[in-house]
Amino acid sequence: MFYRKLLFLLVYIVCVVRPNDINIGGMFGGNEDNEKAFTYAIEQANRNLEGKNMKALIEKESFENAQGPFNSMMKMCQLLNEGIVAMFGPKLQENIDIIQAMCDEKEIPHILTWKNYRSIRTGSILNFYPHPPMLSKAYTDIILSLEWKTFTILYEDDESFLSLIEVIRELEANNIIVNVRQLDKYQTGNYRPILKEVKSSGQTYFLIDCRIEHLPEVLLQMQQVGLMTGDYKLFITNLDTHTEDLTPFQYSETNITGIRIVNPDSEYVQKISSEMYAEDKSIMFMQSWKLKTESALIIDAVNMLSKAFMEINEESLAIGNIQCNSTESWAFGYSLINLVKTSTYNGLTGLINFNHEGFRSDFSLEIYELKEGGIPMIGTWNASSGINITRQGKIVDEDNLSSLHNRTFIVITALTDPYGMLKETHEVLVGNDRFEGYGIELIHQLSLMEGFNYTFIIREDKKNGKQDELTGKWSGMIGDLIEHRADLAITDLTITSDRAEAVDFTTPFMNLGISILFRKPGKAPPSFFSFADPFAIETWAALAMAYFVVSISLYAMGRLSVDEWTNPYPCIEEPEYLINQWSFANSFWFATGGLMQQGSEIAPIGLSTRMTAGVWWFFILIMVSSYTANLAAFLATENPINLFTDVASLVENAEKFKIRYGSKSGGATEIFFRESTNPLYKKIYQHMKEHSEDMPLENNYGVDLAEKEQYAFFMESTSINYVTQRHCDLQMYGNLLDDKGYGIAMRKNSPYRQQLSTAILKLQASGELDNLRRKWWEERRGGGQCESEGESADATPLGLQNVEGVFYVTIYGAICAVFIVMIEHLIYVIKVSRKTKISFKETFKLELKSYLNFESNVKPVLSREDSKEGSKSKSEEEGKSEKSTKSEKNPVPYGFNIPSKESPTKSNSNSTSKLFKSKNENSSHSS
Ligand code: GLU
Repeated sequence: MFYRKLLFLLVYIVCVVRPNDINIGGMFGGNEDNEKAFTYAIEQANRNLEGKNMKALIEKESFENAQGPFNSMMKMCQLLNEGIVAMFGPKLQENIDIIQAMCDEKEIPHILTWKNYRSIRTGSILNFYPHPPMLSKAYTDIILSLEWKTFTILYEDDESFLSLIEVIRELEANNIIVNVRQLDKYQTGNYRPILKEVKSSGQTYFLIDCRIEHLPEVLLQMQQVGLMTGDYKLFITNLDTHTEDLTPFQYSETNITGIRIVNPDSEYVQKISSEMYAEDKSIMFMQSWKLKTESALIIDAVNMLSKAFMEINEESLAIGNIQCNSTESWAFGYSLINLVKTSTYNGLTGLINFNHEGFRSDFSLEIYELKEGGIPMIGTWNASSGINITRQGKIVDEDNLSSLHNRTFIVITALTDPYGMLKETHEVLVGNDRFEGYGIELIHQLSLMEGFNYTFIIREDKKNGKQDELTGKWSGMIGDLIEHRADLAITDLTITSDRAEAVDFTTPFMNLGISILFRKPGKAPPSFFSFADPFAIETWAALAMAYFVVSISLYAMGRLSVDEWTNPYPCIEEPEYLINQWSFANSFWFATGGLMQQGSEIAPIGLSTRMTAGVWWFFILIMVSSYTANLAAFLATENPINLFTDVASLVENAEKFKIRYGSKSGGATEIFFRESTNPLYKKIYQHMKEHSEDMPLENNYGVDLAEKEQYAFFMESTSINYVTQRHCDLQMYGNLLDDKGYGIAMRKNSPYRQQLSTAILKLQASGELDNLRRKWWEERRGGGQCESEGESADATPLGLQNVEGVFYVTIYGAICAVFIVMIEHLIYVIKVSRKTKISFKETFKLELKSYLNFESNVKPVLSREDSKEGSKSKSEEEGKSEKSTKSEKNPVPYGFNIPSKESPTKSNSNSTSKLFKSKNENSSHSS
């Protein structure tokens, strides 16, 4: 009997109780990575455990909710029965509590390597995962260093929310606005609704706290809803973010910051992971980047335990089997726990040491950023020394963002002619190819200069952007930029002060002002006196004056000119009388004949009269030619009737002529009137507010109204210019009411604004902008149509200044003629005085007397008898023959009057008088 007992004991000692087997239990919730790390770690540690051998005993923990803890407990009992000296796990929170309680009771070290928010202080716990309150501190420090002023936390579940409460509290104390959203409340795997919601709220900074298994899907869905662009910043708290494939997000320009505790670039990590994954065909290289934090922590924990085991003698480790239902516990358990708690170890996750509660509250994190070129480290965080940013994220951003090279912009535009238009082709086009126009081409040119890519999207309602007065929210393209639906906006987008507060603009690529588009004026009915139009009233007056002056000077000149006194009967060699054709009536008639370009039978003979006549004819030639030419211009001109000429007369006459007016609804023009302090413009805005039917939603509708109705459309000069080149019945009225420009808009503080502005200036300097304008305004799509019709030049009446010269010529000519006539006269007097021996003075007097006798056109020819002596005998004779001459009054033919009183003819012979009489009678008969 004794031998049998001895044999049994020997077999038991050999087979069951192997003093050099140190059993370590594990429950990893089926996580293969953890199990693999656990077995690998034990194998690896055994290499250094001289004479001792650790053994991994892995149990599957139960997942059934209600039964889970009980089943887990049963499995734990089994493990205890197998003599475990330490317990890893379990993984599920609901199972942890029971296992922890059992470990406490049996004094078995309870090792956790994952985040357990609810871990409470117990005697047996050793949690290798960074202690959650310290992690919260790390998050807080990082967000403060990133200088976020407002951000949204996207958390996964209650546990993650619990872990962030401290972060929220701390940041709010620092005046940072924190919004909180649960990613997937109903666990459907669809994060899009909440992502869309946060996107439309305008938030751009996010803290994402979710399990690593869900992180790729969250990021992917963020990309799908447009939250992965250069405008967004993410801080991902998961320590394993770097182990996922982030390539799809690397080029998204989103600023992603992450943290890790395992440095994949460390030699030790690379060595361990290459060993661990040596047989894993799915991880052929960069194994260190696949090593998850939990796995690394398990390896560290096993190594730390094994280190402790080395310090403990074998007997102490001989735990034996502990029954669950007994009160026995492992006597050496707390010693082991304290040994581990008080020792330090430099493992895969850095230096490991515990606080007295068994939590790892002192650890270091690496802070990194996701960049196109990789995942560079930008700083570290340490529980004792805090945050240390070695490279400022902000600076890196600016360096990176300010370069436009290889960036892809979403450019929003509207189908507003000629800035953006659909190509007119039968081919099926896709993408950017569908569009053409000034704005499209400008963006293309800028992209060639700066090396960026672009995708056009269209704003269907053509709204450029207006701020809601109540909510302050921007509509239109400005809203699209603010809400990150687009990166750039180009169209007829006017730079206004309030828009410039909400977004950034490049330097203007086009300058313009507000003006009025209205129908061309109709033709005025021809006026009754339109023949008088070619000359201005003062010209007509001057012409009439010239006519009188010339007629009178002809009359005077005619009388003074010696040659104009002619012998009425050329057959009588020595006539006693001379006659003069320049009667008052004849002078006027001659001038009239000249004026009408008809001439008259009167022909000037004397040099002075001919000169005067010549100058008059020249004057007439010029005046008539000018008149004819200007009359032609007047007849060709459509004399317009303008209902108004500018904005003031429009407002004044609007009611009288039933003219409606308005501008594009919600456009910069309406904003201009709304903001203006000018009473006239205020009145216009009031009218606009009251007549919403006159406020078209698009420029095209306004143009239609202007064309078809009595409607004046306040429009920007560039657009008016475009329209009037194609709608020939429309024109611009009045001057520009303001001076502004169109620019390319982008979000506030865009780093690429300066470069785009410089590129625009370059295009301007090279004349490229002007070419573009000419192309889209004057050449394409029916441009220049209306120019060919030829704008008839305005015909204006000729004023005095137009014909001034010819008046001077006439005046100087007349003055010359006066001089000539005076010289002629003097010469003649000298001649006569010599011939008649009458003194010069007497001759001059006699001649002047007969010239100044305006009543008669007949003058006697002076002879010797007219001298003082001769005149005496003559007067005697006169007395005798008085009776006979009285009856022969006015004997001069052709209407020439002989003076009745003291007529020089009295001295003439009777025969001559008779002859005159008979001729006179004849002429009166014939007339
Ligand atoms: N260019 C204007 C804007 O940016 C639209 C046209 C207008 O208001 O006349 O809103």
